[in-house]
Amino acid sequence: MSDLTELYQQLILDHGRNPRNHKALPDADCRLEGLNPLCGDRLTVYLKTEAEYITDASFEGAGCAISMASASLMTEALKGKTLTEARELFEKFHQMVTQEGDQNSAQLGKLAVLGGVSAFPARVKCATLAWHTALGALNVRCSG
Ligand code: ZN
Repeated sequence: MSDLTELYQQLILDHGRNPRNHKALPDADCRLEGLNPLCGDRLTVYLKTEAEYITDASFEGAGCAISMASASLMTEALKGKTLTEARELFEKFHQMVTQEGDQNSAQLGKLAVLGGVSAFPARVKCATLAWHTALGALNVRCSG
């Protein structure tokens, strides 16, 4: 178990230091800024959609390793998903980081590395910031 924990920590550090998709998407059709004042994490999420599909995702911003790793992993996870799948994924992710011992992590692939956050309630907002922002961006688009 400690090996696995170490592997997870390495993945979080890797994504935190070298976030994937850390750039603006000039032709994005949804973008929204998110802020976690408790920690000082601030990011902008960009999503490109085509019909029901998210075809591209990226983010810009700065924050702690957890928030950057979560945004990085999220943008990877969202590409190719439908809007419905993206919302379902967020539900599962949210349960995983807020409920210790939650069983959803097996269905979350790489996102499961953030499951350990459930033991640190103060960091949950760091892990969910990118997701709240992405879902907010989708809602703006879908209502418009
Ligand atoms: Zn943070």
